[in-house]
Amino acid sequence: MPSLDTKNIDWENLPFGYVKTDFNIRYYYKDGKWTGGDLFTDETIEVSIAAPALHYGQQAFEGLKAFNTKDGRIVVFRPDENSERINRSCERIKMPLIPKELFLEALKKVVIANKSYIPPYGTGASLYIRPLIFGNGQKIGLGPAPEYIFMILVTPVGPYYKGGFKPVKALVLDHFDRAAPEGLGDCKVGGNYAAGLPGGEYGHEKGFPIVLYLDSKEKKYVDEFGTSNFIGIKGDKYITPKSISILDSITNKSLAKIAEEYLGLKVERRPISIDELDSFDEIGAVGTAAVVTPVSELHFNDRIVKFGDSTGVGEKITKLYKTLTQLQYGEIEDKFGWLYEIK
Ligand SMILES: *Cc1c(COP(=O)(O)O)cnc(C)c1O
Repeated sequence: MPSLDTKNIDWENLPFGYVKTDFNIRYYYKDGKWTGGDLFTDETIEVSIAAPALHYGQQAFEGLKAFNTKDGRIVVFRPDENSERINRSCERIKMPLIPKELFLEALKKVVIANKSYIPPYGTGASLYIRPLIFGNGQKIGLGPAPEYIFMILVTPVGPYYKGGFKPVKALVLDHFDRAAPEGLGDCKVGGNYAAGLPGGEYGHEKGFPIVLYLDSKEKKYVDEFGTSNFIGIKGDKYITPKSISILDSITNKSLAKIAEEYLGLKVERRPISIDELDSFDEIGAVGTAAVVTPVSELHFNDRIVKFGDSTGVGEKITKLYKTLTQLQYGEIEDKFGWLYEIK
């Protein structure tokens, strides 16, 4: 049944959006236990009108990808990291933890069930995997939900950079915050994205596809872009902010390792002052969706700072991108054991 639809997918021109697949998987938490694990074809879910997820945003999610490798395997990139991270989010907003075995079983089942939606090797496309947990049941007073649903949906996504990189201009925001210093900026929760809408839309209106947030307390240091981490290359250094209000990106962590091991760069995780931005050679916005988006210009009040070559792309960021994507597609050795094979 699925193969009929998939034959019509134009893999190389898929946008980064939602395309219906055959199945999603769901688990339920109630009375201290997880049950479920069935595959559903239905794209809708039944939620209580009094669910804390709807009223108070008690929700967390993840994003990762599955690939068809060069040698014909199906692999998922570092799912153990996503399992740990969703549990850090759950812990913070008082949701039950999702056992690692359950998380990986869910992932395996839903990817296999939608196997024909994993883009063929060579198209540059991949299968985006979105795990999601939210508070359900009835509770109108503020407090943790009595019940939870954990689900995973998958959707094929196209290659971000088919005809080479498309560098972007970013607007530095000094009068919007996405997260408070001791709030939830380091958790992958929906509330941060709602908080990011005013700043993000302000940037869009001014013609910037992405915005860069500064630390909310002093507005002196770089935090991260709206939905991706900040990396800067300066000489032989890979520099990324240390801040309590940014999300610990798995892509960033992986690129930092590649920077050290393949490019011989020195990795620094430390506060990055806005006054230092002029001194970077290259800047990238990093995350699962695009891996790295080169940033050609940063606009900050009246200042414009340019990065990379005349097209806004730099040599080291290009190398980082190529190495990580080659590793994901099994074109080079998986020497760090990052690929989780699914059979
Ligand atoms: C998901 C996310 C990222 C990227 O994390 P990856 O694990 O690399 O996908 C960066 N910043 C924010 C705010 C995010 O939500």
